[in-house]
Amino acid sequence: MKKKVLVLFLLILLIPFNVHAETIAQKRKDIANLKAKYQAQQNAKKNAQNNISSDKQSIKNKESEINSNQQKLTDAENESAELTKEIADGKKEISNIMEAYQVAQGDNVYLEYVFEATSYEDLVYRYAVMEQVMSYMKDKINGYEDKIKKNDELIVYIKDRKVELDNQINSLNDEIDGLYDDIKSYDKYANDIASDIRDAEGFLQYMVNMGCKETEELNACQARVNSTNNYGWIKPLVKGKVTSYFANRISPITGKPEFHSGTDIGGNPEGTPVYAIASGTVCKIVRKSSCGGNQVYVCSYVNGKKYTTCYMHLLAINVSLYQTVYTSTAVGTVGGGKGTSGWETCSTGAHLHLGLGTGWYGSDYTTYTQWKAHLIDARTTIGMPARGVWWYSR
Ligand SMILES: [Zn+2]
Repeated sequence: MKKKVLVLFLLILLIPFNVHAETIAQKRKDIANLKAKYQAQQNAKKNAQNNISSDKQSIKNKESEINSNQQKLTDAENESAELTKEIADGKKEISNIMEAYQVAQGDNVYLEYVFEATSYEDLVYRYAVMEQVMSYMKDKINGYEDKIKKNDELIVYIKDRKVELDNQINSLNDEIDGLYDDIKSYDKYANDIASDIRDAEGFLQYMVNMGCKETEELNACQARVNSTNNYGWIKPLVKGKVTSYFANRISPITGKPEFHSGTDIGGNPEGTPVYAIASGTVCKIVRKSSCGGNQVYVCSYVNGKKYTTCYMHLLAINVSLYQTVYTSTAVGTVGGGKGTSGWETCSTGAHLHLGLGTGWYGSDYTTYTQWKAHLIDARTTIGMPARGVWWYSR
């Protein structure tokens, strides 16, 4: 038995891990799997919502049973109180009649009735009538007592039933709370999956745009495409001049030392087209950030290496996420001045802040901190003149 387990364990170890080859075909499979997972989350959420509805209906039914029982309880208590009073009256009446037999008093109505008999037969008859009255009253009292006993039983039942229903309502409410928690986690997981789907679809689009074949591995595709296409750097503006280096400087906003994470290019009014400095895919877009404003990130493959370029403070964004861009594509227009002052606080006038990082933002790394750690000097990399020196063609 132990040997079998060991063999199975070794077999599992020997099965090679399913290494994800990055191919269009694999991406399509990944996307289909992700969509199925997403649908499963949506279905689970729907089930939870249905269960919540039916639990709520069940609570409503129990509450209405409690309410109608409450009415029955009040009725039974009132009826018992009335019957108790009538029993007391009836008993008093009987004791009056009993006393009348024993005490001869002129003002006693029962006694008068009996002694006003005109003959012996009449006396016997009147006596029998009296007995019948008493017997009738005793029966009535017995009936009332039975009814009170039944009411008492009903009252106990209703009180017990209320405890039972309250407990059931409490556990239904607990169940509903749990279902709401479940829905939250289904939503969170579905959101994560949706974001994975967007990433995978963007990546798929990138590979399609590059002209990769269905089962061609990404690296091979990139090498092939790179060898046949003359991808290279080009300036982002037709004319302009560098106004601030990718270097330590005194911040024009705070007056304190800072590291300037890109190359600033001035000499153009707001609205001037900003072009991609290399072909690639739009891999991230940020809109109206208070520091950086409208931003477009392009993931490119240049001279055999991955890069991400970033265009900040844009007045307008002219591209959409995962769109393929070429060096002829205007990704947006120059901003940073009056036109963007409604949301921007980190720019002192119209200019383009050009950022350049290695790797792809959005797939090789995903956070702004990681992006900053990948930054390199755009001016020296793509070959722009020194600060203050104008150029008039890209
Ligand atoms: Zn800047």
